[in-house]
Amino acid sequence: MQVLKTVAAFRAARAARAEVGDLGLVPTMGFLHEGHLSLVTRARAENTAVAASIFVNPTQFGPHEDLARYPRDLDRDLRLLEAAGADLVFTPEPAEMYPPGFDLSILVGGVTDVLEGAVRAGHFAGVATVVAKLFNIVQPTRAYFGQKDAQQCVVIKKLVRDLDMPIEVIVAPTVREADGLALSSRNSYLTPEQRAAAPVVFRALSEARRLFDAGERDAEALRRAILEALSKEARVAIDYISVADPLSLRELATVGRQALASTAVRLGPTRLIDNLLLGDARA
Ligand code: AMP
Repeated sequence: MQVLKTVAAFRAARAARAEVGDLGLVPTMGFLHEGHLSLVTRARAENTAVAASIFVNPTQFGPHEDLARYPRDLDRDLRLLEAAGADLVFTPEPAEMYPPGFDLSILVGGVTDVLEGAVRAGHFAGVATVVAKLFNIVQPTRAYFGQKDAQQCVVIKKLVRDLDMPIEVIVAPTVREADGLALSSRNSYLTPEQRAAAPVVFRALSEARRLFDAGERDAEALRRAILEALSKEARVAIDYISVADPLSLRELATVGRQALASTAVRLGPTRLIDNLLLGDARA
């Protein structure tokens, strides 16, 4: 496994691999867990070579968010990536990605004004811009993202489509703890009490799925069920509860074939997001 810190070094390493063939890319912010590694394993199975990136992208954090304390452990991440079968790992510093004079922001319209975009101003411009740069640097055949960040997946699919990038975007299922909590690097912030409360998020979304499977199609009834389930845990502060169209992310009145049920909550200072697709068993 080669670890490259600069764009030039990454390009040289990629070019030196005569028979790269299909290249799968797994972009991450590090502090890796089984969710990230499931993407690397999938990329390994579907490509002849696998690249991962580890970059805590400052431009996708708001001024009052957790950039400075975002968890990092590069040595451990590299051991895990090597064991999972990564060939190339790109680990740039911020100055490599945003050198003096850098002045670009990619605004993906429509799907970025709602949900996370409504709460985290500028977040998806930061995501779209850094992912576009990573795609240009790595030039993957396929790129792998987790359903855990459902809106991010929608934004990146739109980015690739609108910029005619020749990249297949693959969305892989959310990996969860045994009690349903979606794995997240940010779970490391939780106190034992907050960790014990956190599975309420999955329970609440599962309740919406149960009602949907039992025939409920009134989106407001599904939102209310999520609210009631979340309200059982006093430690949880709710940012939003959504039952939306999975492609446009617009809130639904009536659910047709499919909907994305999603929520963002705060447990103390830690923000957790999660979602379930209703009408689709894969996520
Ligand atoms: P992050 O390091 O949080 O930016 O995540 C990097 C990639 O891993 C993103 O595509 C995430 O959606 C994905 N990811 C994060 N958590 C999970 C999870 N629990 N299951 C599957 N994928 C995940």
